[in-house]
Amino acid sequence: MALSRSARLGVLVTAAASFLAIAASSAPRPGADGIGDPYFPQLGNGGFDARHYALDVAYNPDTDRLDGRTTLTARATQNLSSFDLDLQKLQVTGIEVNGRRAHFTREGDEIRITPKGVLSKGRDFTVTVTYGGVPEPLGGPIVFGSSYGWMKTADGVFVACEPNAASTWFPSSDHPSDKATYDIRITAPKGLTAVSNGRLISTHGEGGRTVTHWRESRPMATYLATATIGKFDVKTGRTPSGIPIYVAIDPVLAGSNSVDVYGVTAEATDYWSKIFGPYPFEETGAIVDDMPEAGFSLEVQSKPAYSAVRSESTIVHELAHQWFGDSVSVEHWKDIWLNEGFATYAQWLWSEHRGTASAHDSFLAGYNSRPADSSFWQVKVADPQRDTMFASAVYQRGAMTLQALRERIGDTAFFKLLPAWTKLHRYGNANTDDFMRLAEKISGQQLDDLFQKWLFTTGKPAL
Ligand SMILES: [Zn+2]
Repeated sequence: MALSRSARLGVLVTAAASFLAIAASSAPRPGADGIGDPYFPQLGNGGFDARHYALDVAYNPDTDRLDGRTTLTARATQNLSSFDLDLQKLQVTGIEVNGRRAHFTREGDEIRITPKGVLSKGRDFTVTVTYGGVPEPLGGPIVFGSSYGWMKTADGVFVACEPNAASTWFPSSDHPSDKATYDIRITAPKGLTAVSNGRLISTHGEGGRTVTHWRESRPMATYLATATIGKFDVKTGRTPSGIPIYVAIDPVLAGSNSVDVYGVTAEATDYWSKIFGPYPFEETGAIVDDMPEAGFSLEVQSKPAYSAVRSESTIVHELAHQWFGDSVSVEHWKDIWLNEGFATYAQWLWSEHRGTASAHDSFLAGYNSRPADSSFWQVKVADPQRDTMFASAVYQRGAMTLQALRERIGDTAFFKLLPAWTKLHRYGNANTDDFMRLAEKISGQQLDDLFQKWLFTTGKPAL
């Protein structure tokens, strides 16, 4: 995610287990209502592993109403008597588990579902939820004070959901540690384009409406899913190295293009593939929408979403997230610097690549511009707290950490580390400890002091 400087919103921006214990652990019991994230205790759900979402959403921009049906295929990780899904505000009209009507109750943002029979540990099951209503975006301090989620535009909707807004438009296990593949079918009025993740499978007319089917065949965190709808000029092709590219730009913004979104996306996708390792997804691209109320851009998987035409630097940031955030995802939200520190560092690498500034100079500029008494230095990067998880320190001090690491271990080890990281945790989840261990392994150095100083301590570190 990247903040837009031009946002109109004011941005403040034992091994001795007894037979009894074994018997108790296999007795069917309810799945936990959260996945155990300290910042968002109720996000995600316990007792199952989400494997594939089939999302069907019909949206009418005139009434702002969404009618949806989600079929989730999941694998039980315990014997389940009941389990939860996350869904905010929308109304549920029916739920089936394995094709049989299931009992459900709502409490807050949780749906508790009780199937007719026990779901056995290790077995796949399907749950189909039929639901609808007018989705509401979220707000508050988390995302630079901006609203986010399902956001109505002049001609449709802009959908960007980090960290916790996916469950405002589809029932899910809404946490990045429970990744799944997706089929996303969007029904929208004829004449509008519906853009989502992965590759376009088909479009067909249905009365006055168009059904567009997208498929994301690589694991994806819920917050990276989109169903952005509107008038778009679409350009497709391949990057010079051959990666399919799909760029959708709101024609309203055609005159305000100061950057060639298609060209920069193609060039940066190929360049990062050399630096960070093979591009992890089937397609690259961009969604550029006229959504002034969203003061940010988001690294939507395979197609970053820009709430206006953004700078070259923002584009390279969001594309770096395809490796750092989208393919290698956080285990818990407190690990967010593994996304934002790396994507910010990628902006510094891009300046180095362009010959405009070395990463060392970018580091010094950021370091020297902030006096020791600045509140900037009071955020603990490796545990920034929920409401300040997107504080500028997570980005900038996170990137400074990587430059400090590079200068300590040298370029050879550093540029071995980055692709090793994306390969080791490709399509999975990782945390800060995992990164520190890999950095020590590849460099052969003890790095506790460096990480302690930059990631786990507040105050301005001495150079
Ligand atoms: Zn970002």
